[in-house]
Amino acid sequence: MKKKITKKEAQDRIIEFFRQAEEIEPKNFRKIKRLAMSYNIKLGNYRKIFCKECYSDIRYHKGKVRIKNMHKIVECSKCGFLNKWKI
Ligand SMILES: [Zn+2]
Repeated sequence: MKKKITKKEAQDRIIEFFRQAEEIEPKNFRKIKRLAMSYNIKLGNYRKIFCKECYSDIRYHKGKVRIKNMHKIVECSKCGFLNKWKI
């Protein structure tokens, strides 16, 4: 049986997860994203750490970075996807 945790506990778990300095595995990110979604927790800036396409840690797989029309575009060096964020 799955243990129920409170929203606060889920939040702490997420903060703890992103505190790690090493590269985060895509499968672990998917897990934490699912946890956040099930508790309606916004990942906010943490989402910018990952490629939207393959969930790679783009702090470690950063391709070209461009700034265009108030958007920051970071290319994922793993899958080539262009991640755009408003700045
Ligand atoms: Zn990617």
